[in-house]
Amino acid sequence: MLFSNFFAPTSKDVPANAEIASHVLMLRSGMISQTASGIYCWLPLAVRVMEKIEKIICEEQDRIGAQKVYFTTVQPVSLWIESGRYDSYGKEMLRLKDRKDNDFLYSPTNEEQATDVFRKYVKSYRGLPVMFYQIHWKFRDEIRPRFGVMRGREFLMKDGYSFDIDFAGAKKTYDAVFRSYVRTFRRLGLTPIPVQADSGAMGGNMSHEFQILAATGESTLYYDKKLLTTSDDELMTIFAATDEKFDHKTCQVSEKDLMSSKGIEVGHIFYFGTKYSKSMGAFVLNKNGEKIYPEMGSYGIGVSRLVAAIIESSHDDRGIIWPESVAPFDLTLLNLHPRDDRCTIAAEKIYETFCGHQEVLYDNRDVSVGEKLADADLMGMPWQIIIGSSNIGDGLVELKNRKTKEIVKMSLENVIGKFMSKCYCPQNC
Ligand code: ATP
Ligand code: MG
Repeated sequence: MLFSNFFAPTSKDVPANAEIASHVLMLRSGMISQTASGIYCWLPLAVRVMEKIEKIICEEQDRIGAQKVYFTTVQPVSLWIESGRYDSYGKEMLRLKDRKDNDFLYSPTNEEQATDVFRKYVKSYRGLPVMFYQIHWKFRDEIRPRFGVMRGREFLMKDGYSFDIDFAGAKKTYDAVFRSYVRTFRRLGLTPIPVQADSGAMGGNMSHEFQILAATGESTLYYDKKLLTTSDDELMTIFAATDEKFDHKTCQVSEKDLMSSKGIEVGHIFYFGTKYSKSMGAFVLNKNGEKIYPEMGSYGIGVSRLVAAIIESSHDDRGIIWPESVAPFDLTLLNLHPRDDRCTIAAEKIYETFCGHQEVLYDNRDVSVGEKLADADLMGMPWQIIIGSSNIGDGLVELKNRKTKEIVKMSLENVIGKFMSKCYCPQNC
């Protein structure tokens, strides 16, 4: 991608009323544009990140047999009257009317719709277990939208819904989703802290929130420091609680192992039994022809919130530091002196060689060196290849690691070889 063609309205100015780093950096790097309170357009740089996050989520959902669908965002209220939630959901629900005066709503979550699809098609125990998921926009008329996309009104969520024949099956599914969430968040470069949670408005009796540590988080967490080093399988058994649930007197963790930190909730999983299958008459027949109401769970990941949460956990005073797995581009190629033919020939050689192998943002703009360097740090690609008049005469370019800030000089051939062989280490290996 040529920077001269790329729609990234970057800015040096710190926007007024952006309180946290991720909100400031998303605005400054031209990732989002606000339309109304809690409602944002997603611009190309942000979309590239979101798509990478989605791909990782989909791979990990596939791995546990969850199947991707798209439910509708606009839904008739009848489904929600059946489940009993139409009145109880309250003011967070955006209610709409069509031209014939029929009542609709814009989906804040999809237990009803998933149960409706299930009951239409699955009539026998042989159709179980089954798990649907989607990655789709939600609308919740949050009372206090804030921190940019962190708590928006329109936001992208992965939501999943499982149906099992009995509690044992539902527990197995719940555990599989739990492990898949841990893998998903780790692949996104995050350290997930699973916290046993209340199931809240959805009812039921098994629930975990997945938090990530960040000074600006809305939750306060207490957890056993073993959580930071333990294997995936043990995570569920190690202590973590939010401050509402935490009780110093009954806490078993020793003073020296007990950690406290702010956290951002990036995922939430629930088991709620037959709440929706019973209220909506979704049953299957078992071997003996008896009616069985499936045991259900629902599983959410805040996809748009994750973009901000990743920035909260990975930035410095110059800008964003993307983990490689979700970076919008693998590297920024900076041609500091585009009027110097030697620089442009070298930059174009790299750009053309990498095409199809590496995702490159090629800064070919005719702007100052300072602006290029600042934008590259602000936008946060993991690597920068910097080509300038002072080094190119010796056939050298600079390779900068955005995270460590380390810069090494190397020959054009070596830098090409390094990326083409997917070896990004700064040593000349
Ligand atoms: P919260 O306590 O933050 O309001 P929730 O319990 O209402 O979250 P769920 O209904 O479980 O959230 O939704 C699943 C995930 O969707 C959450 O873990 C969170 O990451 C994300 N999410 C929820 N509300 C918002 C929002 N207003 N803006 C952005 N992401 C959100
Ligand atoms: Mg909420």
